[in-house]
This record gives sequence, structure tokens and C-alpha cells, in this order.
Amino acid sequence: DPRIHGIQTKIRVVPDFPREGIMFQDITTHCIEARGFIFGPPIALAIGAKFVPLRKPKKLPGEVIKEEYVLEYGSDCLEMHVGAVHSGERALVVDDLIATGGTLRAAMNLLERVGAEVVECACVIELPDLKGRERLNGKPLYVLVESH
Ligand code: 5GP
Repeated sequence: DPRIHGIQTKIRVVPDFPREGIMFQDITTHCIEARGFIFGPPIALAIGAKFVPLRKPKKLPGEVIKEEYVLEYGSDCLEMHVGAVHSGERALVVDDLIATGGTLRAAMNLLERVGAEVVECACVIELPDLKGRERLNGKPLYVLVESH
């Protein structure tokens, strides 16, 4: 698929970012905190679903539930608005990249805690060497590009 090749050629590898030893897969030179938000909203529009942001601490204004998790480079926390997702709703979790799987796992935990059913996860890039897929409890993970 020539479109996949187009995506591959647009990923820039930045060595030693944000820490020494990390080969950062840069999907945009203009990225702010929330790289997954570039991909989530258009997918939600295309499939007729709502979009719910899961954010780093202290970004969401309302009451939140939190999940702490370990990253390839440090630890962090994801928050979701209380009432954003209801019990029994079906969810697709979208991010730009899966490395250790900690972030997707935390996202799945948040959704499952409120009774939602995580149907699938989807990322643009997978770093398969880090085996993040194994942390998803067998949930399907759809990726466009693998990077080693
Ligand atoms: P994980 O939790 O799977 O170890 O790391 C994935 C999360 O960290 C994603 O939210 C992703 O945005 C960010 N991340 C980790 N490494 C990289 C990288 O090399 N490139 C990009 N674009 N994001 C990364």
C-alpha cells in the first residue's frame, strides 16, 4: 500500500529524546502534549462515534478518574472525565504510538473501570521489540507501521 510507505517516510527518528538512549519516533515537528488527538477525532467522525480525550494530569477541568502508569521514559498518569463514558458503551482506544503498552493499558483500565467495553486499540506506530501488545490482555491492536 503506497499510503503506508508515505506514512513511513514521514516518521523522523530523533535520537536521545526526551532522554538519552531513546530513539523517539517523531510523527510531527509541531507536536504538543497530545499526539494521539491528531488521530482520534477524525476516526471518531469517520465511524460516527463520540470522541473522549484521556489526558495528562490537571488538563481536564471537571471531576476525573485517574490511572498511573509506567512509560518507556518515566511514569505518568492519565485522567478521564467522570460521566464521559457510560457503562456498556463500546470504545476504540487510539494513540500515535505503542511502546511498552503502559499508556494503552492505563487507557483501557480507565474505560473498564466505568464499565465500558474496549473493543480494539489502534496506533499509527508499534515498537514491537518492546512487546507492549502483550500488556493488552489479548485485545486486538491495529497498527499501520512497525518501527525497530
Ligand atoms: P508506552 O506507554 O506504550 O510505553 O508509550 C506510548 C506513549 O508514549 C504514547 O502515548 C506515545 O505518544 C508516547 N511515546 C513513547 N515513545 C514515543 C516515540 O518514540 N514517539 C512518539 N511519537 N511517541 C512516543
